[in-house]
Amino acid sequence: WADRTPGRRVLRGVQQDISEIARVRDRLREAQSQYRFLFEHNPLPMCVYHRTTLAILAVNNALVRHYGYQRDEMLAANMMDIRPPEEAQAARDLLLSTTIPYPQGHVWTHARKDGTRMRMMAFGDEIKFDGHPARLVVLHDVTASEAAQNRFQVIARATTDAIWDWEIGTDSLWWSDSYYALFGDRDADTPGSIRAWETRVHPDDLQRVDASLEAAIASGASAWEATYRFRRKDGEYADVFDRGFLLRDSVGRAYRAIGGMLDVTQKHRDEADLRLLRRAVESTDNGILIADARQPGLPAVYVNRAFERMTGYSAEEIIGSTFRLMEDGVDQQPELEAIRQAIAAPREVQVRLRDTRKNGEPYWRDLHLAPVLDDAGILTHFVSVQSDVTEHQRVLAQLAYRATYDDLTGLPNRQLLHDRLQQAIRNAERLQTAVAVLFIDLDNFKLINDSLGHSAGDDALRILAERFGRAVGSNETLARFGGDEFVAVLTDQVDEAAVGRVLARIGGALAQPLQVGDAQHYMTASIGYCRFPEAGSDAETLLKHADIAMYQAKRQGRNQTVAYRADFDASVTERLQLISALRDALRRDEFRLVFQPLFDRDGAAVGMEALVRWQHPERGLLVPGQFIGICEDSGLIVPLGRWVLQEAARHHAKLTALGLGHLRIAVNVSAEQFGQTLQADVQHAMNLHRLPHGALELELTESVIMATPDSAIDTMRELDSLGVSLSVDDFGTGYSSLAYLKRLPIDRLKIDRSFVSDLGNGGDDDVICATIIQLAHSLGLQTVAEGVETEQQLDWLRARDCDELQGFHLAMPMSFEDTVHSLRNPAVTWPPVRLH
Ligand code: C2E
Ligand code: CA
Ligand code: CA
Repeated sequence: WADRTPGRRVLRGVQQDISEIARVRDRLREAQSQYRFLFEHNPLPMCVYHRTTLAILAVNNALVRHYGYQRDEMLAANMMDIRPPEEAQAARDLLLSTTIPYPQGHVWTHARKDGTRMRMMAFGDEIKFDGHPARLVVLHDVTASEAAQNRFQVIARATTDAIWDWEIGTDSLWWSDSYYALFGDRDADTPGSIRAWETRVHPDDLQRVDASLEAAIASGASAWEATYRFRRKDGEYADVFDRGFLLRDSVGRAYRAIGGMLDVTQKHRDEADLRLLRRAVESTDNGILIADARQPGLPAVYVNRAFERMTGYSAEEIIGSTFRLMEDGVDQQPELEAIRQAIAAPREVQVRLRDTRKNGEPYWRDLHLAPVLDDAGILTHFVSVQSDVTEHQRVLAQLAYRATYDDLTGLPNRQLLHDRLQQAIRNAERLQTAVAVLFIDLDNFKLINDSLGHSAGDDALRILAERFGRAVGSNETLARFGGDEFVAVLTDQVDEAAVGRVLARIGGALAQPLQVGDAQHYMTASIGYCRFPEAGSDAETLLKHADIAMYQAKRQGRNQTVAYRADFDASVTERLQLISALRDALRRDEFRLVFQPLFDRDGAAVGMEALVRWQHPERGLLVPGQFIGICEDSGLIVPLGRWVLQEAARHHAKLTALGLGHLRIAVNVSAEQFGQTLQADVQHAMNLHRLPHGALELELTESVIMATPDSAIDTMRELDSLGVSLSVDDFGTGYSSLAYLKRLPIDRLKIDRSFVSDLGNGGDDDVICATIIQLAHSLGLQTVAEGVETEQQLDWLRARDCDELQGFHLAMPMSFEDTVHSLRNPAVTWPPVRLH
């Protein structure tokens, strides 16, 4: 304006200004369109809305795309229209408040046009837009990452693993709540870094674990795992299994690891227990089979080696096969049905079964089957445990056989004869027929025994038994009645003529020479016979009358056959005479006791058995076999037994005086004494001589106990309470069941002489004796072997732990003085036990 030509200068100035303004405006327009471009094409959704009306003033392409609207629709809407209805009110309040925490970002739930929800993080700023107060908002969709984050949180909370999250760069370690449940309270002690974690790893494991973690990080692996010991808050180490995943950046550097740590202490312990159990199951002698109860046919899933051994089948053959018992219709053992029912129930069952091994060999097994239920009570398996009891069963069968059959000849014994005879009488009564009873007694058989020895005598008896059997016929009964006595019971050949033919055949059998030892012998027999119904109506009477007839045959000079006649009963008077002689003998004090010592395994005397003798004025010293039977028949055994008890007691007092009071004296008791005044007699004898407990022992035979088992128990308990020990004499010859003996106050079993005589030759008696000793021990009973006659028997018995021993080899029955002398000056030396 200061120009000399002011108009021109003014004009030029205005022109200059105008072009300047235009330039500025162009630049501005250019900048505006650039900013608009940046807004429009920003990959993040952006919008501008009015601060008070919330009307949307501007949106960019990304927002339009993301929300699924048309641009005009968006520009016609307001900020409430992109909210789900349930959040609208809260959102409006927040948006209208003057300040909202936008710069940090705030996560909202927005809705697309199609209604789907998304989580949007908004960053905002206050601006002026076209002169209006407005907000510019940049939105970031965090739906997916938020879900992942949530999922992680939930998983971390839900799992029992201690979840950890390790920021490697900053070495910060985060633990989920499970950590505290597993390893300790929430406090400063929580390892917040790897360094802190390391202090809780067991020192012996630390180096290994660290190395493996470092190697995983360095190697580019995506996972790491280790098992180690980790200290709980209480100071105890837990076994943990730890597994982590490594997150790596674009150049492969691990920047973060996330994983879970599990306390496996209990699992390890269980596994160890299981290993132990498995070892036990595998190595036991019992056969074990496990079957799957959830599959049809109960296929076997496991068998141990003992089972393979027992059955002869290999595991491969058995596993997968259906339960054998179910299939096996081979025989009709009722036990199979019991098993079927137990499986159906299901419940436990225990049975003894006959079965066959793979090689066809039959065997016995005790089978115990039990269902296995899972924690929910559902049946999953059956376990069966079996032991091979073949040997045991065989011994039982033999014992039963022995009880009814004679060992030497294999013929029925007296017991079985009695049964058969009774049966025959019953049949004959019913059929109106007869029975003939023949009593055969060999003449002078004692001579063979005495001159040739017992085994020659045994041979002769065997041969004759066989010949008599043929003579009598296989449909009839021939029994061995006693030493050299046989009895035939005829039911088919009963008339006079038929009996005559049988007798003739027996005569023929005797007429043939007997080859025994080096020489031939000729035997004769005295035979008596009688018939049902004429000679009696019960077995007892018939046998007695046949016996009487036989006795007549002897009296008439032997080698005869005599039929019973009623007037023979006169011979009964002979018996009566013997009885009165015995009665006198008691009065005249003609009885004596001899004593036979018993020793323990080491040769120390433990007691002696009192054996009665009759010092007959004319016939000399008689042994019990010659008079005890008549005493028992006549009842004389009661006063005689009383005398024996008192004498035994008196001698024990003598033992005590000699400093041998620790030895017990055993007294034999007959059935007839039992249950009478026995307890009173025992008590009286004990009081009279002030015997201590354990000084007396009573030897009872099985038949005594088994005849009246119930009252026997009572009597035995009373005796036991008096301090008398009890042993079972002649064990193995009677019927006693071990299960029954278990209930009695018995101290020991005396194994019968007949078992002992053959010991050590590997025969059946070896097995029987060994089994008796074992069974007795398992019942808490001691065993005594009687009739030890040889060094071999002694060795065998000592090696098998038989507790006590008695027999001619060790000491004969002797007078009291001789017995005491022999105990002080032992004749037998006891070598160390030779083990089997
Ligand atoms: P027992 O109870 O079996 O008595 C053992 C018998 O075996 C005794 O015969 C004894 O001499 C004999 N003995 C001992 N060691 C051996 C040996 O190594 N080999 C052989 N072959 N025999 C041996 P004894 O004294 O003739 O007695 C026979 C049976 O008479 C006794 O058998 C017993 O049942 C009965 N008895 C003996 N004394 C009495 C008694 O006072 N009262 C009762 N009721 N019965 C008695
Ligand atoms: Ca005895
Ligand atoms: Ca005996």
